[in-house]
Amino acid sequence: MSERTADLGVLGMGTMGASLALNFADNGGFTVALGNRTVEKAYGVRDENPELAARLVPTDSIEHFVSTLKSPRVVVLMVNAGKPVDDQMALVLPHLELGDILIDAGNADFNDTVRREAQVKPTGIHFVGMGVSGGEVGARHGPSIMVGGDKAVWERLKPLLEPISAKFDNTPCVDWLGPDGAGHFVKTIHNGIEYADMQMIAEIYGILRDAVGLQPQEMADIFADWNRRDLQSYLIEISALVLAERDPDTGGALVDLIVDEAGQKGTGRWSVIEAQKLGIGATTLEAAVSARGVSSRRQERAEAARIFGNVTTARAEFHADHDGLAELEHALVTAKIIAYAQGYATLAEASREFSWNLPLGEIARIWRAGCIIRSRFLDDITRAYEAGDVVNLLHAPSFTARIEAGQESLRRTVAKAALAGIPVPALSAALAYFDDYRRARGTTNLTQGQRDLFGAHTFRRLDREGVFHHRWPQA
Ligand code: NAP
Repeated sequence: MSERTADLGVLGMGTMGASLALNFADNGGFTVALGNRTVEKAYGVRDENPELAARLVPTDSIEHFVSTLKSPRVVVLMVNAGKPVDDQMALVLPHLELGDILIDAGNADFNDTVRREAQVKPTGIHFVGMGVSGGEVGARHGPSIMVGGDKAVWERLKPLLEPISAKFDNTPCVDWLGPDGAGHFVKTIHNGIEYADMQMIAEIYGILRDAVGLQPQEMADIFADWNRRDLQSYLIEISALVLAERDPDTGGALVDLIVDEAGQKGTGRWSVIEAQKLGIGATTLEAAVSARGVSSRRQERAEAARIFGNVTTARAEFHADHDGLAELEHALVTAKIIAYAQGYATLAEASREFSWNLPLGEIARIWRAGCIIRSRFLDDITRAYEAGDVVNLLHAPSFTARIEAGQESLRRTVAKAALAGIPVPALSAALAYFDDYRRARGTTNLTQGQRDLFGAHTFRRLDREGVFHHRWPQA
């Protein structure tokens, strides 16, 4: 029987789990039990961090792991989403008791989180779905943490999570966001927005590389400059770093040697599936997820380039002078506002649908530090929600003004890219969404007519109340 010395335990010693455990020990001053399917990794985490070894308790079985935990126990699961979570839960739950807390801190489909919470509830053990953003460095030194589940449990977790979270102006970037799957849902939409943000940056990079013909270092300088104004963000900052990096072997730009294939799985895909289920057109997020899908078909793209001509041979009316770069910068700011508005519209609709009462301004607040989409811009979102009810971020005065100022730049950028054959799927999806959203008289009156003709789906009229079916001539 081990001594019960650990304040909490982390199960899963992969990239994120090990970093989070070290963070709990280092910044929280907690004693942390370490558990992992491959037992050696738990001992490795302790042995590789001698300065924290006194607060790290590696264990070699679930029984051993649980036996080191002070009661009521707190177990943080940090394994791959899906079956590994269910498998680990099945192993650990029989050793937990009434009042213990089991946290799934990995990325999870929020539908699974809702199911798991309902499954665990009758046992009196608390299940918490918690989103953690910031990658390896964030998990180690201060992530943004999105907590779901029972609010009373959050009060118990707060002293554990606040010390390890990122801080923005000394305020911890962690909060309880709503019951059951709310934490994981918000993390999912965070990642959908992250996909969109990254894709739009890559599209602007594509214009600068293929249409203007700039070298990576020149583009790094441009992104570094943009990082001083409205676009200031972690993603713009690291874009500059990646573009400036040299390959130690060849001396050339490392970015030019990286294969242009990006995977899409988990959260990105879930974000657009959930937006669709909620009837929200998160088209920029969708375009970003789809673009990764297209990117992964590299051989097919090479063949299509042979058949249709390669877009990299196109030259368009883009210029790297002051006005040309300002236009791209404003296009990116404008499209970014639209993408975030789509993500936030998805959060708002989920909040209504699941009666979560999501604190939308607070969500932007806890994203301001620690997470991948951290940026100056999130402050404006927080302020917009603090100022009053926001139907859609595009209606918030600070964003309305910026959209008005930037929409021509986005329009010209998308138009010039389209004429040159340079793909800008996320930027153009943002523009199309904006134009659709701000058109008072749309075109689905024709769609409704067609549906009534072939399926007697009925329609409503502008000039009369009621629901109508018309006897249309048949084709
Ligand atoms: P990772 O480095 O691949 O580690 C995966 C961990 O899960 C390992 O401890 C592994 O154990 C364990 N595991 C996998 N399958 C298992 C199974 N069937 N049964 C028991 N344990 C199993 O992954 P990671 O990057 O730390 O990610 C962990 C979670 O955090 C995921 O949900 C991920 O989506 C999420 N996340 C990752 C990041 C990131 O930047 N990496 C950021 C935010 C969230 P073994 O050592 O025995 O293989």
